Amino acid sequence: MAIYPRPVRTGLESARDDWKSRSYWATTVDYTPTDPLQGDRSADVVIIGGGFTGQHAAQALREEDPGLDVVIVDAAVCGYGGSSRNGGFMMTMVDRGLADFARDVGDMDARDAWHAIAAEMDEIEKLCIAEGVDADIRRTGIYTVSNGPEQDERVAEEYETAQRLGLPGFRYLDREEITSHIQSNWFRCATFEDTCRLLNPAKLVWGLRDISLRRGVAVHEMSPVRELIVDGGGVSVVTDGGRVRADRALVATNAFCSALPDLRRYLMTFYAYIILTRPLTDEQWSRVGWHDRAGVEDRRVFHHYVRPTVDGRILWGGRDAPFVPGEPDPAYDRNYPDFGRLEETFRHAFPQLDDVEFEYRWGGPVAATASFLPFVGWWDDARRVVHAVGYTGHGVGPSRLIGRTAADLLLGRDTARTHLVFARKRPQWLPREPFRQWVVNASSNLLQRADDHSNAGPMGRVLDVASKYLK
Ligand SMILES: Cc1cc2nc3c(=O)[nH]c(=O)nc-3n(C[C@H](O)[C@H](O)[C@H](O)COP(=O)(O)OP(=O)(O)OC[C@H]3O[C@@H](n4cnc5c(N)ncnc54)[C@H](O)[C@@H]3O)c2cc1C
Repeated sequence: MAIYPRPVRTGLESARDDWKSRSYWATTVDYTPTDPLQGDRSADVVIIGGGFTGQHAAQALREEDPGLDVVIVDAAVCGYGGSSRNGGFMMTMVDRGLADFARDVGDMDARDAWHAIAAEMDEIEKLCIAEGVDADIRRTGIYTVSNGPEQDERVAEEYETAQRLGLPGFRYLDREEITSHIQSNWFRCATFEDTCRLLNPAKLVWGLRDISLRRGVAVHEMSPVRELIVDGGGVSVVTDGGRVRADRALVATNAFCSALPDLRRYLMTFYAYIILTRPLTDEQWSRVGWHDRAGVEDRRVFHHYVRPTVDGRILWGGRDAPFVPGEPDPAYDRNYPDFGRLEETFRHAFPQLDDVEFEYRWGGPVAATASFLPFVGWWDDARRVVHAVGYTGHGVGPSRLIGRTAADLLLGRDTARTHLVFARKRPQWLPREPFRQWVVNASSNLLQRADDHSNAGPMGRVLDVASKYLK
């Protein structure tokens, strides 16, 4: 059975030349891609996609069975999709926040998943220290802030849920407290979670690739997979230059899954955008305080997030997230109207920084599910192909857990991870096109309106309640 029944257009053909210019983070690393796959070779496991998920899975496979022959093939550079370009928030957050997660899956599953993600985040930091990978990881914690009356309740709910589940490291801050940390009239209250870290994602994913190489994983970049064929004896992965014949395969291509007819039913592609200032002077920093240099997210559905970088810049992202029917399209990587709207909201949140200039602007594709949760499981009845996808914009923290769960499945192991909600439940399937874009665009508009009306009395209240259950 051919899973990719026809040659795949990955939309990544331009990556060969442009990967260095896709984000500010890429400019901070001196990186050399590995050689493309040439000719035929065999392997025990072939991994398609070398982002966070693919790297964590490959390392887990070698750790669990050092004799295993593991090959990663990536269409571009490893992590070209989201892993090298994201905001660098390593969080326990999945779904639309802890309260929504607990409401959707139940307290017990939410508590188990939170602990599992938090433990794997600790492991990522320990791994980097042990392997000499400096990914600028700082355990600053993250503030979930409210910037409108309807968000006040959601922010308080985050704290109350954490207390109910008995999770450590959460704190509630009223307006006076949060603005004493970060001077912004926009912030009304906050829940602080100390488990979260900020990092440089390109340094992390490319450092992970180096660790994989050192641990005996073969990595071939600039090798788009055009066909994935499953037959009685195993799987064949075909690229432009060669073929890997393996016992099993992992699909870890996240937003680039639209060519997989089955996964496509569960995934939709959105684009996320980021703008980054020039380094601030000490005097400019003194106007905002922010001595702990922690990350901040608001509690809109299409939330804003803001964080400092280690070289003294401010990164501001989120807000609009256009839906793209079909495959990710690199033409969406730069979206000047959305960059403009982001800058407007930054000026609104920090009017005292009106002289700070933005130097970098970029975006990238996000794979979203109707449940807002990633899912990992067998793709086929013959149990040859595992998929691990659908982070809905929150993959940095959970990717090690999901990658290791994929490795458990590929090794046929029954572990605590394979019983977590991400491996037990597939999200609801989505309608086919053209209905999908009608439904998604209508839902997105409603959710955006809910965000924009959070100050607007009864209408805002109705939209807010609708948005809570619109999934
Ligand atoms: C702008 C932006 C900001 C974000 N901010 C955050 C954040 O702050 N915190 C957070 O937790 N998450 C964030 N995310 C989401 C996060 O980056 C992703 O969830 C995460 O990186 C997913 O990792 P991955 O390994 O599954 O996928 P990716 O990193 O996308 O890796 C998939 C890989 O598959 C390869 N590939 C695709 N098709 C093929 C093919 N046919 N053959 C071979 N290889 C192929 C790609 O080249 C890519 O390297 C953000 C995403 C974006 C775009």
